[in-house]
Amino acid sequence: MSEFQRRRADLWRKVRGQGVEAFLVVNVEGSDQPNLRYLTGFTGTFGVLILAAEEALFLTDPRYTEQAQSQVDLPVGEVRGRWIPQVVERLRALGLRRVGIGSARTTLHLFEELKKAGEGLEFVPLGAPVEELRRVKTEDEIRKIREAVALTEAGLSWILKRLRPGMSEREVALELEFWYRREGADDVAFDLIIASGPRSARPHHRAGPERLRAGELVLLDVGVRVDGYCADLTRVVSLGRPDAKAVRAYELVLAANRAGIAAVRAGASGREVDAAARRVLEEAGLGELFGHGLGHGIGLEVHEGPRLSTASEDVLAPGMVVTVEPGVYFPGEFGVRIEDLVVVEENGARVLSAFPKEELVVLPGR
Ligand code: ZN
Ligand code: ZN
Repeated sequence: MSEFQRRRADLWRKVRGQGVEAFLVVNVEGSDQPNLRYLTGFTGTFGVLILAAEEALFLTDPRYTEQAQSQVDLPVGEVRGRWIPQVVERLRALGLRRVGIGSARTTLHLFEELKKAGEGLEFVPLGAPVEELRRVKTEDEIRKIREAVALTEAGLSWILKRLRPGMSEREVALELEFWYRREGADDVAFDLIIASGPRSARPHHRAGPERLRAGELVLLDVGVRVDGYCADLTRVVSLGRPDAKAVRAYELVLAANRAGIAAVRAGASGREVDAAARRVLEEAGLGELFGHGLGHGIGLEVHEGPRLSTASEDVLAPGMVVTVEPGVYFPGEFGVRIEDLVVVEENGARVLSAFPKEELVVLPGR
């Protein structure tokens, strides 16, 4: 049984008890790319998987027929022109009536269109069963994430040797992205965050035209995709001597990062792990400055389940891969975040990222 067959069998076991005869995954213009890739290996932007108890079928359009035939271990059908009625026709031809569909990635528009075209059929929203399966990674998936982490770290080392006052954030981001692509990344996993000086106080700052300056911090939140799988890593450095407040913030965030990692284990809740890290900052009077969750799952998507946050209802299980990324942000001044990736194990965490973090690295200020 191939990995994809096993995943589809797991999915079918998960949904069959909910009174449906099939499950439909529709990826249109990339709308559900990660789930479809997970279940079939298909990397194009348009594809439909019909998964029924006895039969599974993959549909795409002529742009992708040949690609699908080489990537997908299922019979590949082709649709041309208006595709929704043709998908509905296939469902009818298979004798299906009640068809489950994921709620998280199906637009309301698509859902309405399916209902309109599918007279006599019933489409049943079933939550996010594929996303739930994706939370727990196989060793093979973890190996791919490791590769993405290794490349991410190599690029970070490379760019840190080149950081100089006067470079713009955008220049740094572009040079690093170029390096990643040349060294074999599929792509960057997200718009690289290069945030210097007061902009580092904005957790999701986008690299802009502002220039790096001596005496300021530079926050680099970077990650690449390798073989579909993402990495996500944050480090902060100082260009020239940092002030005492920045050093102190760095030490506290590092302590919070370590407390978070120490709290990761199978059975721990996302809320408990978040609280373990948050407590360190709260006790130092900085709790208010840590405005986001501690971490998130990562895999085919850079942000996926489970969540580590004050609102999380998730419980960690072996094989989940999550980030641990506490931060403190002093508006108008600076921010510090330290982000690592870990695998949840029975009795703890296996840390995938190895980039040094023991102290605030000081780079030449000239
Ligand atoms: Zn990040
Ligand atoms: Zn992250």
